[in-house]
Amino acid sequence: MIDYEVGPDGIAVVAWNMADRSMNVLNEESVARFAASVEQAIGDAAVKGVIVTSKKRDFLAGADLTRLGKASDAASLAASTARFHALLRGMEKSGKPFCAALNGTALGGGYEVALACHRRIAADDPRIRIGLPEVTIGLMPGGGGTQRLPRLIGIRNALPLMLEGRKLDPQKALASGFVDEVVPAEALIGAARRWLLTEGPANAAQPWDRKGFRIPDGGVNTPKGQETFVAGNALLHAKTYGNYPAPRHIASAVYEGLITDFDTGLKIESRYFIACALSGEARNMIRSLFFSIGDANKLAARPKDVPEQAYRRIGVLGAGMMGAGIAYVSALAGIEVVLLDTGAEAAEKGKAQSRALLQKRVEQKRMSESERDQVLARIHATTRFEDLAGAEMVIEAVFEDRAVKAEVTRKAEAVLGESAIFASNTSTLPITGLAEASARPENFIGLHFFSPVDRMPLVEIIRGRRTSDSCLARAMDYVRRIGKTPITVNDSRGFYTSRVFGTYVNEGLALLAEGVASALIDNAGRMAGMPVGPLALADEVSIELMHKVRKQTRADLGAQYRGNAASEAVIELMVEKLGRIGKKSGKGFYDYPAEGKKRLWPGLAQHFKPVSEQPDVEAVKRRLLYVQSVETARCLEEKVVLDPRDADVGSILGWGFPAYLGGTVSQVETVGLDRFVAECDHLAQRHGERFAPPKLLREMAAAGKRFYAV
Ligand code: NAD
Repeated sequence: MIDYEVGPDGIAVVAWNMADRSMNVLNEESVARFAASVEQAIGDAAVKGVIVTSKKRDFLAGADLTRLGKASDAASLAASTARFHALLRGMEKSGKPFCAALNGTALGGGYEVALACHRRIAADDPRIRIGLPEVTIGLMPGGGGTQRLPRLIGIRNALPLMLEGRKLDPQKALASGFVDEVVPAEALIGAARRWLLTEGPANAAQPWDRKGFRIPDGGVNTPKGQETFVAGNALLHAKTYGNYPAPRHIASAVYEGLITDFDTGLKIESRYFIACALSGEARNMIRSLFFSIGDANKLAARPKDVPEQAYRRIGVLGAGMMGAGIAYVSALAGIEVVLLDTGAEAAEKGKAQSRALLQKRVEQKRMSESERDQVLARIHATTRFEDLAGAEMVIEAVFEDRAVKAEVTRKAEAVLGESAIFASNTSTLPITGLAEASARPENFIGLHFFSPVDRMPLVEIIRGRRTSDSCLARAMDYVRRIGKTPITVNDSRGFYTSRVFGTYVNEGLALLAEGVASALIDNAGRMAGMPVGPLALADEVSIELMHKVRKQTRADLGAQYRGNAASEAVIELMVEKLGRIGKKSGKGFYDYPAEGKKRLWPGLAQHFKPVSEQPDVEAVKRRLLYVQSVETARCLEEKVVLDPRDADVGSILGWGFPAYLGGTVSQVETVGLDRFVAECDHLAQRHGERFAPPKLLREMAAAGKRFYAV
């Protein structure tokens, strides 16, 4: 786990090297072994200084989250935290200089080990990431990070980086003071050795352990310090609405820890760290953002025994907004793309979108000009179906029209090889129906991308009734190849994401129809943690489009159609009578002035008269959030979604369901199944059947079952 070696110059090299792991992580055993090596070095009179480094590609990734989730009592967490603090304090107060040689990524607890060294040198490799990103999974630094970093680089510099969980590359880390020096990778150990032998002896004490230490840029009780916290708190609340305890705890640990001595500061940090680690928010975020997304990215649900599909060449039909985006992400991943549209101009316009996105990368120095040209050269704009020959897959993103989709399916299949996959990016049309146009429905599948394609991380894979395992597995290979996260669902109207996301918007419209004030509705949505209020979202999606989809669905389903009558009435009035069709026309629930910010349309109060007694904001938040979980439970019951992890991941990555709740399924567990069912029964009585808990939830609640083991 830890290699230990002392050179003839008296420099000990303590190198992390966990054999059974892809990355070095901090857990009970590895920390104990590291501590033993550190003690050995400190106790050996022949050792003059110590290099802490790693023999693996990365330095140290941080805490072992598989363990943290299980260490669920405060006492054991307090004991392990105290041991870790004592170890790091032992290093910095040993009288011998320690130098961290960061050969690879150092995050969280890994970077905290480096912070306890007297110097940090990083290899100049842009792949390396350095920082304290704990907050992004609901945690906070617990190995002294909140105490050391601000004492090293000042409160104002350190706090935002911890609150945002930023990961810096070595050059940025150097500029921010996270590391002291950046050297070519091959010179790393030599540089550490040199520093230890020359400057080390005079620098074997941390600044905060020296007489007369002052916090760089001033302490908490200086005007600048106070300003940092006052402004920081306001910004934090505006962003999180108090839904996330971790950033609050980080700010408190820094504030309270920096008005006292260092060792008391560490104790303060521990208390906040334990509160974070035991919070439901951390459990939810670790589960969904770390484990479930990790499993999805590893294709844990991929059908076995299907050889991995390599992608060299794909076709994209339709070079509109979606097709152009799909072509871009595919070419960026190194795949040749045939981008086809009905006219040469439209096809070229789609390609031009990639040019613009690539140019932005060049300007941000994230890509060289020659790389840009190489990616662009992979996109072949065309109008000829013959050019699709040899493609392993074709993705269709033409108009949302069955006849048009059927026509391009037939034309493409005529030139494709037998085993090629045909994928549709439809957002509403059931895949099984679209597959009827295909000569090989077993190779027909849905790949639902989100807009804008270059930024949205999720792809919802839809399995039609006749889609084969092999087709599904190979489609998953493609999603992984382009670096996105796949979830797999079964065919149904709206699939999973559009169907559940739609309930949020519809609930907002139903609230409006009931006379709830529009500002209350949209504020409650954001306060609940959704990125945008439901009325603003309806404007963005386009009220007109919602109207169209609804008419189509009603026509398709006939007597089986079950809509949300209240929201439908609102949509009809807005589109048909008031001509307010959404953001693209500058008029929807909001007005969009040419200059300045959007604002709620004052006329709303006239058409949807607010009732005199407005509901409590908590009640509005509950309705907006619960309606999404009830619909998700229906998707699970109907086997549209088979794995609760897919539902959670899809909701967070697909439409921004709040991460502190862990996703639509984890919300139910957070509330408790019993209580969730009881509250939904109550909501159903008052507001309608859409809240009625499905049988699956009732039975699970009655049997004391859960979706997740922890
Ligand atoms: P768009 O109107 O921007 O683009 C469609 C393109 O298809 C146009 O360039 C058009 O010229 C081309 N086209 C039409 N008929 C064709 C044919 N026979 N052969 C070749 N090209 C043809 O539409 P969009 O927003 O990119 O949507 C495309 C598909 O993606 C639709 O099925 C839509 O439902 C789905 N989708 C859209 C979104 C979204 O947010 N817009 C999200 C997910 C899925």
